[in-house]
Amino acid sequence: MRAFGRGRGLKQAALLSLLAGVTAFAQQQPPPALETLRVQNNVHAIFGAGGNVTVQIGADGVLVVDSGVAASAAALAGEIRKLSNGPIRFLINTHLHADHTGGNVAFSRAATDPMQPLNIVANEHVLTRMSAALPPFQAGQTTGGAERLRGLPIDEYFTPSKDLRFNGEAVVLYHEANAHTDGDTVVLFRGSDVVSTGDVFTPDAYPFIDVANGGTIQGEIAALNHILLLTVPGHTQEGGTYVVPGHGRICDEADVVEFRDMLVIVRDRVRDMINRKMTLEQIKAARPTRDYDPGYVTTTSFVKADQFVESVYKGLMK
Ligand SMILES: [Zn+2]
Repeated sequence: MRAFGRGRGLKQAALLSLLAGVTAFAQQQPPPALETLRVQNNVHAIFGAGGNVTVQIGADGVLVVDSGVAASAAALAGEIRKLSNGPIRFLINTHLHADHTGGNVAFSRAATDPMQPLNIVANEHVLTRMSAALPPFQAGQTTGGAERLRGLPIDEYFTPSKDLRFNGEAVVLYHEANAHTDGDTVVLFRGSDVVSTGDVFTPDAYPFIDVANGGTIQGEIAALNHILLLTVPGHTQEGGTYVVPGHGRICDEADVVEFRDMLVIVRDRVRDMINRKMTLEQIKAARPTRDYDPGYVTTTSFVKADQFVESVYKGLMK
């Protein structure tokens, strides 16, 4: 589904932010070019702030999925303000990576109305890993504790799913265990028929399976199969449920099927090579992704073929 993809003409992101806190946080460098597309109903997607950002708007305020990189926080807030002047009440982090959580601190600082606090929601493993990465308290430090914790999820969940109602819509968060990381959340906007996946789904690029943070190929495939349960194609097989990936263009169910099938085939090839007692180096040399590489790797790709194969191998050897 390419017709609904990202447009060519990138417009300069607006600098005018009504969020003073976020503006103050902005770094003194040219703002990145952001682009906003309406996905379906009251759900929008913003591209160019790091990972994709999903925004649901309505009478209750604003719900945001992921906060981009820290350097884009002011520009991102400006884009959100073009959609709604309502308070940002929920920020859901799909996982811990800095291109999806980097704006947390700025969004937290900007939420100054105690009657309308910002709820940062994530799976418990996101909080655990983000907390562990904090700089240690200095000896003798007695103040600044709250500021040190700013931007961390404050509403973490440890159940298979979590649901809430916002702007008249059921919003369901699903924990996808050990997929891209160990703390991935997929968000279903049930009324708008939109799924926001985080990095378990990245069309046109091999997934970054973050083995060090608990990611596995098996969990990746399970997460994609679950997303396929949540999506329903349109009458002409295009459209229907729209899927906002962690990076890349807006997709539909057929795109997720294509990506899932690629992962299953590569997994099976690598597993077969492991069963034939091939070493990791021999498997890489055999290039089990060769026929997929033209569609999933470019010179600027974050994940190269060898790296993808190695992450599949490590997941299968666990
Ligand atoms: Zn990621």
